Amino acid sequence: MFEGITKSLTEAFKKFRGGKLTAENVRDGLREVRRAFIEADVNYDVVTDFIGRVEAKAVGQEVLARVNPSDQIIKIVHDELVATMGPVDPKIPQRADRPVVLMLCGLQGAGKTTTAAKLALTLQSRGRKPLLAAADLQRPGAVEQLRTLGEQIGVPVYSEATNPVDVCRNAVAEAKRTLCDAVILDTAGRLQIDDDLMAELQRIDKLVKPDECYLVVDAMIGQEAANVAKAFNDALELNACILTKLDGDARGGAAMSIKGVTGVPVKFIGVGEKVDKLEDFVPERMAGRIMGQGDLMGVVEKIASIQSQVSEEELKKQQEALTKGQFTLDMFRQQFATIAKMGMKDMLGRMPGMSEMIPEGEDPEEALKRVQGMIDSMTKKEKDDPDIIDTPRRRRIARGAGVEPHEVNQFLKQFEQVRFLMKQMASMSMWQRLKMVTG
Ligand code: GDP
Ligand code: MG
Repeated sequence: MFEGITKSLTEAFKKFRGGKLTAENVRDGLREVRRAFIEADVNYDVVTDFIGRVEAKAVGQEVLARVNPSDQIIKIVHDELVATMGPVDPKIPQRADRPVVLMLCGLQGAGKTTTAAKLALTLQSRGRKPLLAAADLQRPGAVEQLRTLGEQIGVPVYSEATNPVDVCRNAVAEAKRTLCDAVILDTAGRLQIDDDLMAELQRIDKLVKPDECYLVVDAMIGQEAANVAKAFNDALELNACILTKLDGDARGGAAMSIKGVTGVPVKFIGVGEKVDKLEDFVPERMAGRIMGQGDLMGVVEKIASIQSQVSEEELKKQQEALTKGQFTLDMFRQQFATIAKMGMKDMLGRMPGMSEMIPEGEDPEEALKRVQGMIDSMTKKEKDDPDIIDTPRRRRIARGAGVEPHEVNQFLKQFEQVRFLMKQMASMSMWQRLKMVTG
């Protein structure tokens, strides 16, 4: 399965350090990735395209100092996966003048009926008023199944023993009458794609004109998902897919295959049989799942942060100021905030001097707010020359920041220490500094 992608990349690029990534060593490293994707039943063409794009991005890329080439490739593979599966619009459309009509289609057993209820519950939780339409008149017990689910979540279910088109049409009329703002059509499926099924769905599509058509696909069918999606998309022009049963062993290759083959994005995922088990599809999360490494985000964040470091110019200016010992509270505030914003909370904890500003157990986000509050309560004169901060000033700053005066005192002492360290660090290069921080 996908388990080994991150690992095999790490192995493949271990030997390689420094310089540029050449076509040869990139190709070698990616051979394993390709195999893992193919074995995991991702559509062959999709894998080939994907590997091609990663290769093009990786070859010739300067290997960042202090970053493992494998980490760098992992980041490229990850970003490309995200780009392949995204973007996603999690919104469900709304109309002011009439109920919006959402049609669910898919093979039998894919999870349409369950998903219809999940979707209704999602809409309800967003303050909307959905109506479910039982348009599967094929499968015995299908209407009953939807009724039971509707009762469970307190959403009305429209049904009549006529034909699917009339059920859908009359459900929309019923929704208007009862001031519902969304109708979810639960249609019939077949074990295989066949002309009868498509003809029925096309009739509904033509006569009821749903605003959105979502294909419900079982993630466990892997690469076959792409073929199913293609057939439905050719017949109905899908707006999105809903990938179900991702609580099982499926690793999400289906999301990649579907998007790669049809261009139709996955919008929601089903992660359990219960009605509240519907989640927004998040490409980043799926990429992590596909690559199979819990620590992946650590690598991705680290590199992203290095790449988004301050511009050279700004860096030079800062270094100059630092060597002269001019590390001001304003500069500190900015650095502290940048690091916290990069989402590298653990990193902040390891910054010399800064770690002491986050007491054991305090959320770095809270520490950031506290520290910023204190700095923002100081006058310009105080910030430029903290030595002038006496007891009355300390009290005023504490009041302004909503902290105790002794906390201001403590912070200023810590800042003094940081200022000293910064002066030392100023003589180091950017990479040395980063190394010191990232370890
Ligand atoms: P339909 O034939 O497409 O309407 O499929 P159903 O909604 O009847 O679902 C078929 C089976 O799949 C049922 O046993 C559901 O409980 C199950 N199912 C649907 N969605 C999920 C899911 O996200 N996770 C799991 N584990 N089971 C699901
Ligand atoms: Mg059903």
